[in-house]
Formats: sequence, structure tokens, C-alpha cells
Amino acid sequence: MADTTQYRSHDELRELQSDRLRDTVEYAFENVPFYRQTLDEAGIAPTDIDSIEDIQSLPFTTKADFRETYPDGLFAVDDDELRRIHASSGTTGKPKIVSYTDGDLELWHEVMARSMAAAGLDSSDTVQNAYGYGLFTGGLGFHGGAEELGATVIPAGSGNTQRQVELARDLESDALACTPSYALYFAETAAEMGVDPRELPLSTVLYGAEPCTEPMREEIEDRLGVRGYENYGLSELIGPGVAVECEAQAGMHIWEDHFYPEVIDPRTGEPVPEGEEGELVLTTLTKEALPVLRYRTGDLTTLTREPCDCGRSMARMDSVTGRADDLLIVRGVNLYPSQIEDVILEFDAVAPYYRIDLDRENNLDTLELTVELAEAFDGDLDGLRDKVLERLQNALSFTPDELELVEYGTIERTEVGKVTRVYDHR
Ligand SMILES: [Zn+2]
Repeated sequence: MADTTQYRSHDELRELQSDRLRDTVEYAFENVPFYRQTLDEAGIAPTDIDSIEDIQSLPFTTKADFRETYPDGLFAVDDDELRRIHASSGTTGKPKIVSYTDGDLELWHEVMARSMAAAGLDSSDTVQNAYGYGLFTGGLGFHGGAEELGATVIPAGSGNTQRQVELARDLESDALACTPSYALYFAETAAEMGVDPRELPLSTVLYGAEPCTEPMREEIEDRLGVRGYENYGLSELIGPGVAVECEAQAGMHIWEDHFYPEVIDPRTGEPVPEGEEGELVLTTLTKEALPVLRYRTGDLTTLTREPCDCGRSMARMDSVTGRADDLLIVRGVNLYPSQIEDVILEFDAVAPYYRIDLDRENNLDTLELTVELAEAFDGDLDGLRDKVLERLQNALSFTPDELELVEYGTIERTEVGKVTRVYDHR
């Protein structure tokens, strides 16, 4: 695909972003009463925005703003111009309703096709899409992108894993699009069916929608004999298609000609220096139905604008270490589930399945960690437990109140939707 946008110089990109930001702020101010009000309150007129650097003067948009304007208070166009509605499932309360014009759908397909091309796919490939179709943006997002790329798409949807394995084998799927936890479940199901997952024609897994650590990626690549490429997106911005790894697998390129990224200190709201971890904030630069200014994603990551081996000039973000919402505060210690995952997956003797149960006893927080043993494990259980506990203490300065090592296959697998690993009973 002759798409030179991704290889523009930084100066050219800045200029494009500045033009688009000016247009977006003016457009949001004119068409969304919510933005007119928040900009007025901040004392900002659209004409105050000259270059992309001025973005820092704009107020943030938050998840609460979506909730309070439910269902369509942030829409910028009339019903007549709307072509599609999706929703992002909130774990609590009302979903966030998001909408698309014809132009937005074109944009979505384009950035998804670009993402798949960056992961090495082209029109000769067959993409098996195991994301859920429906209000969730995963299914139709990947579907539209694969079609735009000219690839063959198998709209398998989520679940029905035995049939998915058969489809992948019989239709010779080149790529599987799914969550990281589903990729592992798929491999396990294949093995149970007597199909060696490494012998399947799959060469690529496009994974996303859940945080995924590097050891988890290695598990997926090893078990399925594929290369795994992470992608990132969120419905409030467009869905999947905001960022994706290129063949260098060295962070996800953010398609910042359409989605402008900043990283801020979540406590102060101030930008952090490049390379430091903070909360990702994104601004849409070309959306029509639902322009979003400085959206606080709640996702923690770092950003780099160092050149990438692939030659693309677009900034790269690290895998999300956690959502600000995922932060577990246990007896005053701040922990992300991904940090625990990083430690336990260092051990070959355990399988990549675990759960964290939080509770409260005598007004004290307790954390119970349950970890599955590797399928072939027949070693010293107590010795392994001691080693895992010691490693957790050294790496995280934290020891769970209980560490249970359970037989392979004990922890419930997630066939549909996102995996749940943390159960807070407090
Ligand atoms: Zn790259």
C-alpha cells in the first residue's frame, strides 16, 4: 500500500497535526455544547489554538464526561449523518455510547488496514477474526480493516473454539485476531483436540483489548508458532486501530496523524518527560461524529519518538502496564496485576493462568494468588512455592497472604470477552 503518511518527517507531521487540531477544536466548539461550555469555562477560544503545542491549554475529557452526557451528549452531528453506533461496556454503570459517520468508518477501516499491514499482512492473507461481533468495537473494527486491506476475512466471532481450530486448519488462516488470553485458550483447545497448534497454518496473531506482558507474548508465540503483534485502541477514540506494533516488535506506533498522544502525570495532569511512565491522553484529529479532546484513557504507558527500525516516524507507546483503574492497593502497597504476571511467568514450572483474590480480614487487606502449574509439572511443589514467593518479595516488595499452586486446567478459561483475573471481594 503506497501510504507515505507514516514516514513523514517530524516537522511535516507537526504541521499536519497543528492544522488538524485547529480544525478539531473549532469543530467541537461549534457542534458540541459540552465542548463549548468546557472551553468557555477554561477561557479558551478556538482562535487561541495555533499549533499542536497549544493542546496543553485545553481541558481534559474524562470517562465521567461520557457517563454524564449519556447517551449522545458528545455527538457532533445529526442523526441523519450517523451510520453506526457502538458501545464500550463499562464494568460499572452505563456503557459509553460511541458513533460514526461515513467518514469515520472510512477512517477506521484505513487505520485498521494500516495496522495489519504494519504487522506484515497483505491482500494474500486470510484473517480469522475471533473478536466478538456486536456493540463491542473489536469484531467490526478488525473486520473492516481486513476488508480494506484486501485480505480474506473469516468472521468467526468469539467462542466456539473447537470450530475455530477446525476453521484455522481447513481454511488455512494466516492470522488470528483475538485477545491474548483467547490466543492461549485457542492453543490449548487445539492440543486437546489432538491438533498440534504449531502445525496450524497460522503465522500471525494480532492481539489486543487486554494488557499483555512480554512473557505472555512469548507464550503465545511459542505455543502457536507465530509472531504476535499487539494493537491498542479504545472505543471512545474509534475502537481498535489507534496503535499497533510493526515488524520490529518494539512498541506500538500510534497513528498520530489521526490520534494525538500525550503522557501526563495522573495526579497533576502535567506532561511527563518523554520516556517516563504516565497516563496516556489522546485527542482525535479527524473524527466527525465524536471528536474527543484530550481524553484521559486511564492507561499507563510510556511514549518514545526515537526512530524505529521500520522507518516509520510515528511515535511509539509501550504495552500498557495497567489501567489506572486496575491499580491494586493492598495494605498500602501499589500493585498492578501485570507486575505479578511478569514475575510468575518467569517460572517454566507454571502455566500462564492465574487469579488474584482480594479480601479483607479484621480490617486488613488480604491477597490470595492462585497460579496454575505447567501441564508437565511433577517437581517439588513446596520448593517451587518458596521460590515464587521469594521472587515476588524481591521484585515487588510484596508477599501474598496465600499462594496456591493448582493443577493444570483448574482455573476457568475465558472463551468470550475479556479475561477476568482480579476478584475483589472487599
Ligand atoms: Zn516501527
